[in-house]
Amino acid sequence: MPSTVDVQNIDALNFDVVVIGAGPGGYVAAIRCAQLGLNTACIDAWENAQGKASLGGTCLNVGCIPSKALLESSEQFYRLNHSLAAHGISVENPSIDIGKMLARKDKIVKILTGGIQQLFKANKVTLLHGRATLLADRHVEVRDQQQQVIQTLQAKQVIIAAGSAPIEIPVAKTDDQYVVDSSGALAFTEVPEHLVVIGAGVIGLELGSVWRRLGAKVTVLEALEEFLPMADRAVAREAQKQLQRLGLDILLGTKVTGSKVLGDKVTVHYDDQKGSQSMVADRVIVAVGRRPCGAGALDPSSGVKLDQHGFIEINSHWQTSAPGVYAIGDTVTGPMLAHKASEEGVAVAEILAGKPGHVNYKTIPAVLYTHPEVAWVGETEHSLAEQNIPFQTGQFAFAANGRARAMEDTSGFVKIIAHQKTDRILGVHMIGPNVSELISEAVLAMEYSASSEDLARTIHAHPTLAEVVHEAALAVDKRAIHKAN
Ligand code: FAD
Ligand code: NAD
Repeated sequence: MPSTVDVQNIDALNFDVVVIGAGPGGYVAAIRCAQLGLNTACIDAWENAQGKASLGGTCLNVGCIPSKALLESSEQFYRLNHSLAAHGISVENPSIDIGKMLARKDKIVKILTGGIQQLFKANKVTLLHGRATLLADRHVEVRDQQQQVIQTLQAKQVIIAAGSAPIEIPVAKTDDQYVVDSSGALAFTEVPEHLVVIGAGVIGLELGSVWRRLGAKVTVLEALEEFLPMADRAVAREAQKQLQRLGLDILLGTKVTGSKVLGDKVTVHYDDQKGSQSMVADRVIVAVGRRPCGAGALDPSSGVKLDQHGFIEINSHWQTSAPGVYAIGDTVTGPMLAHKASEEGVAVAEILAGKPGHVNYKTIPAVLYTHPEVAWVGETEHSLAEQNIPFQTGQFAFAANGRARAMEDTSGFVKIIAHQKTDRILGVHMIGPNVSELISEAVLAMEYSASSEDLARTIHAHPTLAEVVHEAALAVDKRAIHKAN
């Protein structure tokens, strides 16, 4: 922890707002503050391989964007090998150049992170590259890699958006080569023969899919007995079936007890129902969740309190325990998602500019970019039953949709859950082609408190995948056209 500086004697630069962190929470907050006329600085510590500032945080550098780039490349390759024959297309011995695939991913990251620098310039956000520490009375100290103080700022208001980092477990310590976290798994230079993934969460399933599609044998070790417990039960069952069909060997109720690197192999020890087991892998990905990084941006004098899990404590307006200091994104509780961080960033910027800022936590979509994709918003049947809320559901399968047939991509379904009396949509759950895009219609419907009848009366273009959402809405009232109700 850096020592406390005598804030009375600092010759500080003054800003209306200082944002710590330029991930999807921080950079969006900074741009919105500047749009609203606030003199804004944003401090970010991220450096690329060339030692240069690279904005966008986890999401752009080692998260959402590079993972989706690899999911896209690997899916194209997989289709070439497995799905195109049905279209009458054959290609002999297709191959993939992993170096080129990684270079494409790096180029996308470079373009998008550079784009944020341009946006900062266009919006007159002052960017400082370095590590920030919040001191007392909204003084912020910025240090370089050598821990030298390069600047001190004084802000009327501060937004902490310091993000999160992978959780490490002592039984599988990462070494950046054989046992890696999600960042390492985005940079394997060759396809591992046997890849073990610890954790069947979002990262484990997405990155496990990438390397499986490229030819690795993939074993996923998950501690819980239940697969995707946060998802709708039928969606989770279908996802498990489809991922197993892809070739992911998903072992539930499996507790990793240790790992050892010997030569270029890793032996992973685990306990399951049968007792103590072990398996040998070429690479191991540890994907057991992420931990908040707010503490690293705080001097004890800042007055900002953390909860027992390390999240920054905030009230319903994202205010911390220190006056004029706010916190958003992965540093505070809630789903660790880029769009959640960004919406909180916008809301706080608007509050600081004297406007009413608001985030509707009931309509934050969750998406797994596997194949088929999984997406949902709102309540599950399970959560509604727990709250004694009466509901009815409508479901429709992609197998009965013309566009899905034309795409040769027919697995999955859409389920709409509506209140039994008012018909208000309470939750929408999807698995199938492009549902990461289809979920937006459900989010919009819920944002406007729509009923399933509202969706049922909305015209959907034909032939589109969105017709599955339409038919699911009709099915709530048992009047879907293209199935027997
Ligand atoms: P971050 O993006 O973590 O940004 C925090 C920034 O603050 C970083 O640049 C960091 O260097 C900087 N910082 C921290 N401390 C300091 C300090 N003291 N001084 C200066 N700078 C500091 N989410 C989705 O919604 N969709 C996805 O598809 C998705 N895919 C993901 C895939 C992977 C592999 C991973 C790891 C994550 C993924 N996520 C995804 C999660 C998403 O990346 C995070 O929820 C999101 O980045 C959080 O945004 P943030 O602004 O809170 O923090
Ligand atoms: P996660 O919380 O989604 O999944 C972690 C999994 O690891 C859980 O199923 C958990 O039961 C399991 N686990 C924990 N400890 C274990 C152990 N010792 N042995 C075996 N299994 C263990 O976390 P993640 O996959 O690391 O992702 C981190 C965060 O990043 C998530 O909160 C997610 O929101 C975000 N993310 C989102 C996306 C997306 O939106 N598509 C993609 C990637 C990451």
